[in-house]
Amino acid sequence: MTAACVGIGIITESRIAFGEAYLLCQGPVCITPSWVEADNIENEVQRFLAAVKEAAQQLNLIRKDIPSNTPEEITEFIDTHLLMLEDKAISEQPVHYIREKKLTAEWALQIHRDNLVKLFDQMNDPYLRTRKDDLDHVVNRIQKILIANLDEVEDTYSGKIVLADELSPADLIAMKQRGLSGFVTENGSPMSHTAILARSLDIPAVVGAHGVTRCFRHAEALVLDTTNGTVLADCNEREVERFKELQKKESNRLQELRHGSQKPANTLDEISIHVMANIEFTEDVGPAIANGAAGVGLYRTEFLYMNRSDIPSEEEHLENYLDVIEGMVGRPITIRTLDLGADKQAQVVSSRCVNPALGLRAIRLCLKEPELFMPQVRAILRASAHGSVRLMLPMITNAWEVNQALKLIRKARLQLDQKGEAYDPEMPIGGMIEVPAAALNADELAAQLDFLSIGTNDLIQYTLAIDRLDDEVSYLYDPLHPSVLQLIQMTIDAGMRHGTPVGMCGEMAGELRYIPMLLGMGLREFSMQPLALLDAKDLVRRVNTQELSDLVTQWRSNMSDIDPHQLIKSFPIH
Ligand code: PEP
Ligand code: MG
Repeated sequence: MTAACVGIGIITESRIAFGEAYLLCQGPVCITPSWVEADNIENEVQRFLAAVKEAAQQLNLIRKDIPSNTPEEITEFIDTHLLMLEDKAISEQPVHYIREKKLTAEWALQIHRDNLVKLFDQMNDPYLRTRKDDLDHVVNRIQKILIANLDEVEDTYSGKIVLADELSPADLIAMKQRGLSGFVTENGSPMSHTAILARSLDIPAVVGAHGVTRCFRHAEALVLDTTNGTVLADCNEREVERFKELQKKESNRLQELRHGSQKPANTLDEISIHVMANIEFTEDVGPAIANGAAGVGLYRTEFLYMNRSDIPSEEEHLENYLDVIEGMVGRPITIRTLDLGADKQAQVVSSRCVNPALGLRAIRLCLKEPELFMPQVRAILRASAHGSVRLMLPMITNAWEVNQALKLIRKARLQLDQKGEAYDPEMPIGGMIEVPAAALNADELAAQLDFLSIGTNDLIQYTLAIDRLDDEVSYLYDPLHPSVLQLIQMTIDAGMRHGTPVGMCGEMAGELRYIPMLLGMGLREFSMQPLALLDAKDLVRRVNTQELSDLVTQWRSNMSDIDPHQLIKSFPIH
C-alpha cells in the first residue's frame, strides 16, 4: 500500500518531483524500526560509535565557545551530557542490540533509550526523573548525526526531497544550489517567502503537511505532486509512469500557451493590460521573457543579501540590475528596494524584533540604517541610465516615510552628480500598498509618488490579522474578504483621481480566479510569478472589461447580498 501525506502544493512548472526522502531533523527525531544485513553488522557498530564520538566533539566545541559570564548551570548541563556520552551506559547496550538483534544503529539506540526512560519513570526522586530530559537531549544529538549529518558533503541535496518542520528562504537558496529536487514542510503557508521562492526556483514543494517528518523514512523513494499537495511513497512502476505522463501533459499544455505568449494582453474590448513578471533572481528573466512578460513589475532584491556576511556593494547591485535590463530587452523593470525582515532574514541584519512582521523591516529598516539603503539607491539610479527602470519602496505606512525616502534618493542623486555618474533624473519612484494604513491614505501617497503597487500578500495579512506564515490560520487568508476588496478599490480609485498608475504584485494578481474581479475593479497592471503569465494572458484575452466592470458595480451597490466568492464564479469568460 502507498504511504501518503497531504499539504498545500506550491505549483511549479515541473509540478511533480521524484526523489529520495531526506529527513532534515530540527525537532525531536522520529525513528522507525529497521534492521541491517548480517554482513553489515560491524560497519553498523562502527557507524554508531562514530556518531557517539561526533556528538561528544560537538558538545566539546559548544562548551569551548560558552562566554565566561554564562551562568554555571548551563556549563553543568553540557558537562552532564558529555559525561553521559562518555559513559558506557549509553553505548554498550545499543552495540549489543546491533550485534545480537541486527538492529540499525538508530533503532538500537531508540530501544535502549525507551528502556532507560521506563527505569527513570519508576524512580521516586523528582530530580532523577528530570534526568530523563538529559537522556533525550543526548540520544537526540546522536540520532540526528546518524540520520542526516551529511552537511559537509557538497552535493547533499541532489535528487533529494527534503522533509522538514520548516525551511527559511536562505536555507532554500542554499539547498537549491546543491541540487534539491523538492521539499515538504510540516508548517508554513503558500504565502510565505519560502513558498514564493520555490515557485521562482521551480522547486516542487508541499507546505503545511502535518506529520510528514514522521510519515516517511529517510532515503525512501517519494513522489511529490504539487497539483493536489500529495507526497507518496512506495509507488509502483505503473503509478510512477502515470505521474510522468501527467507531467508531460502539463508541459505540452504550457508549450502550447507559450506559442502565443508574445502577443499583447488585450481584452475583447481592446483594453491593453500590462501583465508583468515578479522576479527574485537574474535567472528568472529567461522564463519571464519566454512567458511573455511586458516587463518586471516586482524585482525582490532582498535575496541578494542572503547567505553572506557582508552587504552587497553598489557595483554588485548595479551588475545585477544591468543583467536584468539586458535580459528584458527594453521592457520596464521595477526594482524594489530591500524588504528584509520578518521571514526574510539575512546575517547583515540582526533583527531583534519582538514581532518581526510588525517590526523594523523593509523601508523602516532602510530609513534607520541608510548605509544599507544608499548603495542600493545609487545602483538603481545608475541602472536607470541604461534602460527603463522604476524604483519601488516597500511597506510604506505614511507620507513621512515617503518624504524621508525621497530625501535620501535626492541625496543619492547629488552623490552621483559629484562623481559624474549618469542616471535618469525622471526615473519613476513608486511605493507598495501593503498595509491598510497605506490603502486608506492612498490619495496622499498617489499624489507624492509616480506609481503604486498593491502587495496583497502583506495587505491581506495585516487587514485580516493573520500571519501569512502560519498554516494554522491560512483558512482565514481570504483575498475576497470585503475589507480587502475595499482597500484594493480605494487604492485603484485614488490612483485614477491623481493620474498615478496602480498595479498589483501580490500573489492575488497571478491567480486566475481573481483576475476578472480585479479587471472589473479597474486594475490594468498585474505582476506575477513568470509561470502564471501564460494562463493569465490567455484569460485576459477572453474577457470584456466593460462586462466585468458592470458586474462589479452591481456588486458594490449591493455588497451585503452578494458573496464575492459566488460573484467571481459568474464572470463571463468567452
Ligand atoms: C506583497 O506583500 O504582496 C508583496 C508582493 O511583497 P512580499 O511578498 O515580498 O512581501
Ligand atoms: Mg510584502
